[in-house]
This record gives sequence, C-alpha cells and structure tokens, in this order.
Amino acid sequence: MLVVMRHGATVAEIDRVVRTIEEMGYEARPMPGAQRTAVGLVGNDGRVDASRIEALAGVAQVIHVTQPYKQVSREWRPENTIVTIAPGVTVGGPDVTIIAGPCSVESEEQIIAAARAVRAAGAAALRGGAFKPRSSPYSFQGLGRRGLELLALARRETGLPIVTEAMDEQGANLVAEVADCIQIGARNMQNYSLLRVVGRLGKPVLLKRGMAATVNDLLLSAEYVLAEGNDQVILCERGVRSFDPAVRNMFDLTAVPIVHNLSHLPIIADPSHGTGLRDKVTPMARAAVAAGADGILVEVHPHPDRALSDGAQSLDPSQFAELVSEIRPIAAAIGRGVVHLPPRVAGIPAVAVG
Ligand code: PEP
Ligand code: MN
Repeated sequence: MLVVMRHGATVAEIDRVVRTIEEMGYEARPMPGAQRTAVGLVGNDGRVDASRIEALAGVAQVIHVTQPYKQVSREWRPENTIVTIAPGVTVGGPDVTIIAGPCSVESEEQIIAAARAVRAAGAAALRGGAFKPRSSPYSFQGLGRRGLELLALARRETGLPIVTEAMDEQGANLVAEVADCIQIGARNMQNYSLLRVVGRLGKPVLLKRGMAATVNDLLLSAEYVLAEGNDQVILCERGVRSFDPAVRNMFDLTAVPIVHNLSHLPIIADPSHGTGLRDKVTPMARAAVAAGADGILVEVHPHPDRALSDGAQSLDPSQFAELVSEIRPIAAAIGRGVVHLPPRVAGIPAVAVG
C-alpha cells in the first residue's frame, strides 16, 4: 500500500503517517518525490485498515498496489529507478550501458587483456565470473578468491567497475568486497535466501531471469531484494529454455517493454547467453537496444577459441568493437546515447580478498 501525501504536506504530517503505520505493526518507507512525498507500507498482510490512514491530515490518496510484487511495481514508484554501479556509471538513465568481459576470469593476462579491449571499445563496466555455476561439476568452476583479486586488479588497471556473480550465501560476502555490482545468475534467480542476503549487502544487484521463469517470477524475485531495503536492482533478460535446438536459449526481448511497463527497475539484455551463438550476438544486441533495453551484457574474450567457458558465444575484441559501433546509431535513433566511463579516478586500490 502506498500513501501519497498532498503537495506541500508538512514534515509533521508525514511523521504522523509514518508513526501510524508503525503503530499498526508495519514498516513505513517515506519516499520524497519531486512533486510530493509518498509513504510505502511494507508487509501488508491484507489486514491493514486503510481508512485509519486516509483520515490523517495531509494524506491525498491511498493506493492499493494491485500487483503481487509491491515495491518493484510502477504503481509504487512511477519514475524510473537509476542504478549507480560506480560514480558516473549508471543503468536505467537516458543512456544505454554496455557491460562486457569474459564469461570467467581465467588468468591475469586474460582478464587484463579483456578489460583493456572492452574499455577501448566503449564498455562502461567489466563482467567476469570468479565463481561459476556450471551445469557439469567437472567443468571449470572459476578461480574463486583469486578471480576476485584479478578483477580488482583489472579495475585498478582500467577504471572499469566490476560486475561479478555470487553463487551462494558464504561467497556473497566475499564477492561484495570486490564487486561494484553483484550478479545473481539465472540458476539462482529463485534462491530466495541468497536474494535476501544479497539485498542486505548494500551493493547494486544484477538479477538474471531464470531459464524457466516468467516475467512475474523475475519481478517477485527482485521484490526479495527491495524488501531488504535495496532498490538498486538491474533486471536482465538472458533467454529462456525452448523446444528449439537451433539456439541455446530463446531470447525473449518482449520482456523488455513488458518490464518497463510493470516496473520502475531498469532491464538490460544478455544476447550472449540469450543466443549461445557468436554470430547471433551482434544482431540480437542491436535488437535489444532497439527494444529499449537499458543496457547490454556481452561476453568478450581475447581468444574465444581458448575460453574455459562459453567460448562459442564470446566475441573477440574486434567483433565487440564492431558491435558497439553498430548499437550507437540505434540508441541515437530512439533518443539515447551510450554511457561513457568517466575519466579515471586516480589511485583506485587493488583489494586483497579474504
Ligand atoms: C554468466 O553470465 O556467465 C552466466 C552464467 O549467466 P546465466 O546465469 O544467465 O546463465
Ligand atoms: Mn557465461
């Protein structure tokens, strides 16, 4: 439930609404807006007596959020949420954000080469997994702590903020020491205890759509993070399982305008996992930007043929540079630019993990 205050409501009136909600046993979340303040009532179990709040001074309207997810919905917050990954690197603003890098961190040489290449081509953030959720227990599982240290080194070398995955609750704390944005992978989208933990870590979260998850499921998962007090959530369409072996996944770009309609959270698209095929990545990246995605997540490897994971869908640096040059005019055609990494802030320290 959302309590919308009148334009010009006093601080005392807003406080009174907050206290009343708390007296009723719920959590109150005041949200000052450009025009007027709203106060969210968190945890409505259907027993809230709205008339008690409607009668308070300064209250303009009480809105019952009709969706099963509350804080994630546009009813709760009409303006777009802009997620800040690092100073000057945002997702969900007017411009499109390009996040790129290898599937996995494999070595110092590999991650530094990848970071330099994606930065030179115009990426605003570096992706790369240190903890990898692999379908087979015998496949490369990632470098773990060492991978995080190498990501910190790559950030120091290039200034690119880091997006990397947390796979479990113990690893999440470790990942949070280095990551500028914590990725929750498709396989963990419905790991609700992990979502709660990550919601409390105070870092932006990149939440990927599960491979058999509906848009509604995705938004409900995001609600877990927001319910912990963290609204810095980026959603990501990465394809869903289909009957068709022609592609690894069915890239569901309809999710982009659907999410924009239902939620204030930004949504980016991952054409690498969405197709699984290198030569399909650029066309679908173009399509994602045309569909209104707030960013793209692209796998780029200095030598895709030698990649320890997802080589078949990874672009090499020159293919990635071409992709970036192709999406710029598409973004411009719908009135958007591409987010630039701000000039380097000197002295970003490498982080010792542990
Ligand atoms: C990844 O981004 O490398 C990854 C494992 O993605 P997903 O969780 O979408 O499969
Ligand atoms: Mn991958």
